[in-house]
Amino acid sequence: MRRLLILVLLLTGNRNPAAAQVPAFQLMRSDAVKLLDDVARLYKKRVIAVNTSLSANVSALAEVAIDGSPVIKVPPDRDPTEADLVHELFHLKLIAEGFGFIRFSRPLPSAVETRLSQWVKDPIEHTIFFPQMKEMGFNPAEQIEKIASNTRAGLIAEPGQAPELSVVPLFALQMALRDSPAVFESFIKGRVNETDIAVSRQAVEIVSKDEPGTPDEEIATLVKVLNCLVPTIGTFSFTNWDLQKKGAVTVKTAIIQVEAPSDRPVCRR
Ligand SMILES: [Zn+2]
Repeated sequence: MRRLLILVLLLTGNRNPAAAQVPAFQLMRSDAVKLLDDVARLYKKRVIAVNTSLSANVSALAEVAIDGSPVIKVPPDRDPTEADLVHELFHLKLIAEGFGFIRFSRPLPSAVETRLSQWVKDPIEHTIFFPQMKEMGFNPAEQIEKIASNTRAGLIAEPGQAPELSVVPLFALQMALRDSPAVFESFIKGRVNETDIAVSRQAVEIVSKDEPGTPDEEIATLVKVLNCLVPTIGTFSFTNWDLQKKGAVTVKTAIIQVEAPSDRPVCRR
């Protein structure tokens, strides 16, 4: 018999006892259940699913609660797939193993910080666990392939986006579609600025060449990619790790120094 695991959904800010009975999601595959057990063992706490609104285009998010509980946040209108949950479980596992988060030495506009984290740091981190997801039988790029196959999808243009970030979603898309370059090429054809494409290709090349495997390597690659993608925002360099003890784990945050923009960008434009 297939082992069926149900995580109980904790509804934040909702004390209605009827709502708390809602079973959230199920993990069907034994290796997904094993991953869940591994994460719980690393944190010495069970994984909690929290129903909460997230920014647009975010299907789920991994976080560590102040008491050290591993948390997967899911928007109330989304029904996460097993692949979504496994994806977030891998992020939680990596956080416990020291991969952590990033923070900039001087405050950048919050939309910029969010984008650099979601669309630059995350796609680099994915290269570390996507091979394992594939071994488990998942296609980690399934959703993005579906969206990009729809030629009318507007993934690149985002209203009100800072112009210096135009290449950032392109990089995220190209990273996500590394295994299906034909989908990427037909999606961008005639709709993306040539300079942006050239820069994005060079940034993806940096990641492919580096193949980061440790927290330090990941940040070193990230810094190079930031200096390639967004040189007008500043010159980026790694300074140190900030450590925060949360329950059984130490959550690491890489502090990234931002200095004046360089007149010699890493990537050719
Ligand atoms: Zn991710």
